[in-house]
Amino acid sequence: MYALDLCQRLLKCPSITPKDAGAIAVVSEALKDLGFTCHVLSFSDPKSPPVNNLYGRIGTNRPHLCFAGHTDVVPVGDPAHWSFNPFAGYIEGELLYGRGAIDMKGAIACFIAASSAFLQDKGPTFKGSISLMITGDEEGPAVNGTVKILEWLKARNEIIDACLIGEPTSKTQIGDTVKIGRRGSLNAKIITHGTQGHVAYPELADNPIPRLLGFLTEISKTPLDQGSEDFPSSNLEITSIDVGNPASNVIPQAAYADFNIRYNNAHTGQGLIKWLEEVALKTAGKHTLTFNISGEPFRTPPGAFKNTVIKAIEKVTGHTPELSTSGGTSDGRFIHHHTPVIECGLKNATAHQIDEHVATQDLVILQKIYKEILERFFE
Ligand SMILES: [Zn+2]
Repeated sequence: MYALDLCQRLLKCPSITPKDAGAIAVVSEALKDLGFTCHVLSFSDPKSPPVNNLYGRIGTNRPHLCFAGHTDVVPVGDPAHWSFNPFAGYIEGELLYGRGAIDMKGAIACFIAASSAFLQDKGPTFKGSISLMITGDEEGPAVNGTVKILEWLKARNEIIDACLIGEPTSKTQIGDTVKIGRRGSLNAKIITHGTQGHVAYPELADNPIPRLLGFLTEISKTPLDQGSEDFPSSNLEITSIDVGNPASNVIPQAAYADFNIRYNNAHTGQGLIKWLEEVALKTAGKHTLTFNISGEPFRTPPGAFKNTVIKAIEKVTGHTPELSTSGGTSDGRFIHHHTPVIECGLKNATAHQIDEHVATQDLVILQKIYKEILERFFE
């Protein structure tokens, strides 16, 4: 089984972001064997570690289907907590263990295996193009990865007609859920400033804590929206409150809070920032607010590609997938600006966990789904 063997070889590369550890070369060699033209794209930036990425394409015509994925993985934590070496590609029974088995070396192996079978069937009559955009910077800062590959593609006038992302989207069965968009994510920090003093002489001090609490109460009790057909309602979570004050007789100088908003397409990051600034003006007194938008919400427009993926999954599994926009962000947040994006991959239950593993049978099913997508896309 080619997908299993390839996945195993990828798992043996300890490619914790930003390290490549040979993973890009494994993908590149596999693609070259199938006739793809491959470009290893090494990007660097003064603020972020250098990263190896890969773009491989076969065919010069349209339509052009691109598979996007990442070979980098998150750290393993304490390896002693793993049942097996997380970078050995160990198989026990029907399960293949390793960091990245689910997220997402397994899906990359399945797509390459599906492409191999598809190209073998089609032979020289194949008229379109298949490409793989593989980054080594998805789990990290995402500075020297997909964003720069997309710029590189644009400069070469490469047009992609649709993009399939191999992130683990399935819940209990392969293909039971696909992602047709993602929520936006806004991280924010507020500092309320006061005047330090003795609790016995409050008239000489200014306590920043009640103002911080007033602000947080106001923003957390306001419903952001009711959600929509494609999106759950937006959600704000306070993640930290701190004053760094060990003394019970001191009014602190400043109080801090962090919060995150996962928001749907009823909002923009800038719109939310404006609202937060207005609430802070009314409630927080002297304050500093800082923001970081890590991705705006997006949704795959209805159309042929969505139907292709749904029909392919129905054919292979007998079930209609749930179309979801839940979960964290992915590089779809960058790619959707260029082409319609759908995410479909393995079961996400053990992603980023100790003893991450994939059932070998799941690799078989995902490979079949990917091959069916290729057949229908190029029909
Ligand atoms: Zn991932």
